[in-house]
Amino acid sequence: MSEKTIFKRIIDKEIPAKVIYEDERCLAFHDVNPQGPVHFLVIPKKEIPSANEIAEEDGPLIGHIFVVIAKIAKELGIDESGYRVVNNCGKDAFQTVRHLHFHIIGGRSLTWPPG
Ligand code: 5GP
Repeated sequence: MSEKTIFKRIIDKEIPAKVIYEDERCLAFHDVNPQGPVHFLVIPKKEIPSANEIAEEDGPLIGHIFVVIAKIAKELGIDESGYRVVNNCGKDAFQTVRHLHFHIIGGRSLTWPPG
């Protein structure tokens, strides 16, 4: 069996994380290397390696993740000021963890286009 990703180890509570929200389907926690005043990650508990492997049947799960994102953004006070939801998929996008995750970055003005 292939080795667990760092995010699977966080889901399994083998390594600590600053958890913001958890339910049976997803987990949200602060990024260890924040790129803004607010930077958290939301991940499915299901092991989906990247956006390339999202299946039709994952639709409700992905929808749920976006509802959770909006709920946390409100709790952290960035819903009005705005935020960016980022998914890095694959090598050119510098995906470093092979477990699907959404970055939510806010609390500052974000430039566009991204680098
Ligand atoms: P990627 O580059 O794959 O899109 O993003 C991976 C993100 O996970 C990075 O922003 C990185 O800082 C974060 N990260 C990596 N390892 C850990 C960890 O052990 N704990 C937390 N909280 N974040 C992590």
